[in-house]
Amino acid sequence: MFNKLKRIILNLGFLNRIFGKKIIHLEGIYFTSKKLKKHLRKYKSKCYCVCPVNYEYFNSFLVTNLTKNEFYKSLKKNYLELKEMRISLQLHVHLALLPNRLSYAKKESMIKSAYDFFVKELDIVPTEIVFGWYSSDKESIEIANSFGLKVIKEHLHIYDWWLE
Ligand SMILES: [Zn+2]
Repeated sequence: MFNKLKRIILNLGFLNRIFGKKIIHLEGIYFTSKKLKKHLRKYKSKCYCVCPVNYEYFNSFLVTNLTKNEFYKSLKKNYLELKEMRISLQLHVHLALLPNRLSYAKKESMIKSAYDFFVKELDIVPTEIVFGWYSSDKESIEIANSFGLKVIKEHLHIYDWWLE
């Protein structure tokens, strides 16, 4: 009961808009970067970042026309700029709304892809992951832990595209 109530409260948009400024889920940095950087100079928020593995999902969700390669380059360039600003960057991966319907191998390859992007392209070893929609299952948590990642549960936060 308490957990259910806690979940409902943490998902209330207005509470997140008021108190969630220090944690951001970065989903559309290719068009939010200017306002985002302004926000970060003020709040130094911790950022949970989508990775190239979520290209299809975000191209449809945020209605953009980026090619896979443009998306990749944009994430890399912008995240490196945030790193330069000493912003804490961690992983944000959207597996599926119902992750138990994905195979173990698919979940593993998606998490590995995001992890490798951070290590190889940004030279950052991530230690935390927030799953999209907070959707995880036993297997995805197990996979994340095997990469040394702590799975972060519901928390107050904002989205970068709320800054637009
Ligand atoms: Zn998300």
